[in-house]
Amino acid sequence: MPGPLRIVRTPLELTAAMEAWKRAGHRVAFVPTMGALHAGHLALVAEGLKHADKVAASIFVNPKQFGPTEDLERYPRDEAGDGAKLLAAGCELLYAPTVATMYPPGFASYVRVAALPDLLCGAARPGHFDGVATVVSKLLAAARADVAVFGEKDWQQLAIVRRMADDLDLGTQIIGCHIVRDDDGLALSSRNLYLTPDERARAVALPQALSRAREALLAGGDVAPALATAERKIAGAGFARIDYFELVDGERLTPLRAVTPGARLMAAAVMGSTRLIDNLAV
Ligand code: AMP
Repeated sequence: MPGPLRIVRTPLELTAAMEAWKRAGHRVAFVPTMGALHAGHLALVAEGLKHADKVAASIFVNPKQFGPTEDLERYPRDEAGDGAKLLAAGCELLYAPTVATMYPPGFASYVRVAALPDLLCGAARPGHFDGVATVVSKLLAAARADVAVFGEKDWQQLAIVRRMADDLDLGTQIIGCHIVRDDDGLALSSRNLYLTPDERARAVALPQALSRAREALLAGGDVAPALATAERKIAGAGFARIDYFELVDGERLTPLRAVTPGARLMAAAVMGSTRLIDNLAV
């Protein structure tokens, strides 16, 4: 029987708890999140348990990765509910710092990965991935885990975190986890809570357009018409705006004119007031 979930609030406590596990001979995994946990987050915990015998998670709604007009204030928060879900999934330690602990007065250091953050989501969300790289480097430095698990749902984030962990010798292996989807194919996201029932029903056009574009490409179709058809489908379903629908190199995230090994379809579009992202390997 797992004991109660242990909650720590400072980086020193997190490091001490992780080091104690390692001294006891355990391999340790770390799963960073912003909370409002769903089955996608819990799949990351399960993935962590495949690579380690102890899993710690973090919940931190990181102000530095939200733009001035984004949903920082209304982002869903439920630490008690999240704690119960983590414990049931086999996570034993939760790091939940306050904003003042993460960014005390005088905080002045930022991590910026070159090039990757300017593409795709970075074009619509300037500064977003610098906020992500900064907080993830702090989290990984304090956690000192053997492995850290990130979702392929946020493919660009995963690519940036891999690059950063490698470049900065952080000593933690970055592991990607498959995308968990609802029965109709929509990728689970904490932001799906914002969708009205009508918007939720129409949002499924996004994963459907990705699947159809993938089929068209694998059947030998040209890239440009496959992407154009997908964009028409998404617009027709009532998405207010399409930020991008592209075929890219999965590591460099640069656009491709033909399918190559590692190619990935990437999409972001706004339904009502909610920005949804998704992607698919081709
Ligand atoms: P978030 O709480 O949205 O910042 O996400 C925390 C982690 O969970 C990130 O590594 C996400 O990629 C991952 N994640 C979010 N949604 C899903 C999903 N539907 N399937 C797999 N991983 C996910």
